Amino acid sequence: MKKEEKPEKAPVKDKASRTLLQTRIIDDIFTDAVDSVKPRFEVDIEAYVNRLWEANPDIFVLLKEAATADEAREKLYAFLERSERRIFEVDNDLHILEKSTVREAIRVFKSIIGPVNEYRTGVSALKFLFRLSKGEVDALKHEISAGFLLEFINLFRGVNGRSNIYYETKQAKKGIPDFLQMEGRQASEVRAEMLNELSSNMSKYLRKYPSGLEEEVITWRKGNKKRILRYFNATDTDWNNYQWHLKHVIRDAQPLFDLIELTEEQSDAISLAAKNKVPFGITPYYLSLMDNKLNIGYDHAIRSQVIPPLDYVQKMVENRENRGLQFDFMGEHDTSPVDLVTRRYPGIAILKPYNTCAQICVYCQRNWEIDQVLDPHALAKKEQIRRALEWMDENPAVGDVLITGGDPMVMRDDVLKGILEEVAAKKHVYRIRIGTRTPVVLPQRLTQKTIDMLASFVEYGKLQISIITHFEHPYEITPEAMAAVKRIREAGMMVYNQEVFTVENSRRFETVKLRLDLKSIGVDPYYTFNMKGKEETKRYMVPIARILQERKEEARLLPGLDRTDEPVFNVPKLGKNQLMAWQDHRLVMILPNGARVYEFHPWEKNIQPIPPYNYVDVPIYDYLEELAARGENIRDYRNIWFYY
Ligand code: SF4
Repeated sequence: MKKEEKPEKAPVKDKASRTLLQTRIIDDIFTDAVDSVKPRFEVDIEAYVNRLWEANPDIFVLLKEAATADEAREKLYAFLERSERRIFEVDNDLHILEKSTVREAIRVFKSIIGPVNEYRTGVSALKFLFRLSKGEVDALKHEISAGFLLEFINLFRGVNGRSNIYYETKQAKKGIPDFLQMEGRQASEVRAEMLNELSSNMSKYLRKYPSGLEEEVITWRKGNKKRILRYFNATDTDWNNYQWHLKHVIRDAQPLFDLIELTEEQSDAISLAAKNKVPFGITPYYLSLMDNKLNIGYDHAIRSQVIPPLDYVQKMVENRENRGLQFDFMGEHDTSPVDLVTRRYPGIAILKPYNTCAQICVYCQRNWEIDQVLDPHALAKKEQIRRALEWMDENPAVGDVLITGGDPMVMRDDVLKGILEEVAAKKHVYRIRIGTRTPVVLPQRLTQKTIDMLASFVEYGKLQISIITHFEHPYEITPEAMAAVKRIREAGMMVYNQEVFTVENSRRFETVKLRLDLKSIGVDPYYTFNMKGKEETKRYMVPIARILQERKEEARLLPGLDRTDEPVFNVPKLGKNQLMAWQDHRLVMILPNGARVYEFHPWEKNIQPIPPYNYVDVPIYDYLEELAARGENIRDYRNIWFYY
């Protein structure tokens, strides 16, 4: 690939242009544009700098004594080589797991100071460290953040074998735990005690996240339902009729003001969205899952699913005219061989015949395609559908078709049936997946009649029909949702869940609780997505390090049958890659605002030479700050810095 001219530094962007999709090609990589946002709060940068040098005095001396940044780089490489060799020495008494952290920290630090990574990201973390060592703290105060310094404090500790992952006050040393030095029943008892402790610790957290199946929650929600029915002058029979819900989808602010308590920001955002016709909608059923008083506080994930933050609405309004290009971060414009079809994998195609939903999710990856809730013109033209189906005939490699949208279950049964008949008739199609949020937002839609219609296409050995749904939180799991899933399962179809990992479900053991509750109603966790987004949804985003930490320190405590989901990262235009596979990504830079830049390799690695993608993550520090604001004990997350 032809090289571009070497950029002097990262491009400076004005505020408006930051919301643009800024992926561009540099060298042999395509990359998110680097955006160095200044720290939000005044912090004592000087104190952090002191902690930085305390974390690894050798590195400080080495940086301080170097005449230039390039000389410092050479010396650092030599130092890291020596440190790496030391962990292979027999008399090194660090614990073998701590040595593993040392090796990882060294690998990451080498990558960050690599000239090629500076060139590709347009940022040199090394130059900031070099200048700090020369005492330029005042000059850099407004350029670097506490997040940047904390990344390096922890990285330096990692290089030193002082991660504190295993012990908080001293270095983890070599040694064999008691139970491994015992035998038989005695060993088992000691081991059982350790396991019980882990388990009871987990249980303490799980109690923080009630599901909608708990008696107390069911009682509250009965009250909510009564108030909503009274408000709309409706009956229990109406409540059980999905068409009643669709007719009464809440599209403006007044019913919300009347039925639930809102924060000031929520009120402003809803009013602005309604005034500017930003897609917005909530089914009466989903509204009944919200606590009517703010102080109950279990419904944060439910509210944030549909009540947009104010800055999100403002950005949607600003970018109204070219939303399609601004928010298409998955690059669907460039992966659609024919209208209504998206293809990123050899055997799978997405068919999108209907582009509206029963309600609008704030961080939907397709929100740029959806004009309004229950848009009467949402069904694609017959000619477009015919052409998309013909395309499938021309591409017999596609055996797995995901029908999504929008939400195809919002279509009338006869329309959906017509499309299913066409797809099912293709001999090469062995699976049809229906992507729908109706089990979560409108379980009444899944009537026995509709389910029987779907199940009529199932042919064992030939064609499977699966439902792919999207529960985000245990609080969304209700008796109604459970009954709908049961009807689907009893008709011979499987139900899988794709969770998006956001700030709303990423607290300690929160997603563990979701997995357990899903399994209990017959839904198999399938994917956990790292949330990909731009400025408009930034406040929901969780750093990649947290998804890795959750998998290792929390999900792993569950039996294998409960943690069937795979954490994945969606590379724009190319598709999913496994996050747990270290060989598929690497940390290449830490930006002055504390954000990590990762190089993500395509799923085709070792099959085809497709260029990697540089992804700018959200800073860990900002995420921890958000958790602290929500009352979390940040010490629970202290190992997050060591997940790369
Ligand atoms: S139901 Fe699915 S497609 Fe519709 S807005 Fe929500 S996430 Fe997007």
